[in-house]
Amino acid sequence: MHNASLSSFSVYTILSPLSFFIVITNNNTFTLAMASSTVYKCLTCNKQYKRKTAYNRHQQVVAEYNTIPSDCYILSVNATNEFKKTIVFMIKERLKLHFRSTGKQNITFPCSKSQFFAVFGGHIHHFNLKRQVYKCIFRGEAAYDSLAQLFDDRFWGTKFFDHDQRAFVLTYESQQIDVSFPLEDPDPLDIQDNKSQKRQKKLVQVVALWKVKQRSYAHYNSYSSGFISLSFTINRAWIV
Ligand SMILES: [Zn+2]
Repeated sequence: MHNASLSSFSVYTILSPLSFFIVITNNNTFTLAMASSTVYKCLTCNKQYKRKTAYNRHQQVVAEYNTIPSDCYILSVNATNEFKKTIVFMIKERLKLHFRSTGKQNITFPCSKSQFFAVFGGHIHHFNLKRQVYKCIFRGEAAYDSLAQLFDDRFWGTKFFDHDQRAFVLTYESQQIDVSFPLEDPDPLDIQDNKSQKRQKKLVQVVALWKVKQRSYAHYNSYSSGFISLSFTINRAWIV
């Protein structure tokens, strides 16, 4: 269950003034000699470390975040699959062709901590103890397929329309931002300046957050519920 998370740490990016290597390691053992300016980069959160011990500590801390908390219960396979379908439904409801429906999206809906761990356990990368917020980040070339495996649905982030058109969740930065889609309305993507294009490109990722919303009222009474928030970027394209 935790293999997927740990595997993201098995790739080190080594940067130096003279060289750039991506080194795939086996059992966290380096296969190349390191330059003096070596940096250990976590490909999930982009944090960089000068020392391997600090990087390894980051690994350990993240692995601990994925330990199922004592206040969670194990969901049945059917219950988990049902919730996966709910997540996919909520995402696909946002997949539309109109330009106003593209770009950054955020959806929030009720989700118990047990449900969150049932689906995203092994992929949690941040945990805020004080606020009790868990966070998963999916980015890079393999992000779409990772989520397809998690949701058991390869079309989790794609919706097809008439006339060979599709809207989809953008998960990889090198994917082209569509600027030539024929539209009746002017497309604001055409008039974005370089600065906003860079900003959008930088934010291409899917983030899944779990948090508790708590409300207090008279006499110190309160009520609360767990919620999941998903943020992602929608693009559209011709089907090729
Ligand atoms: Zn990280």
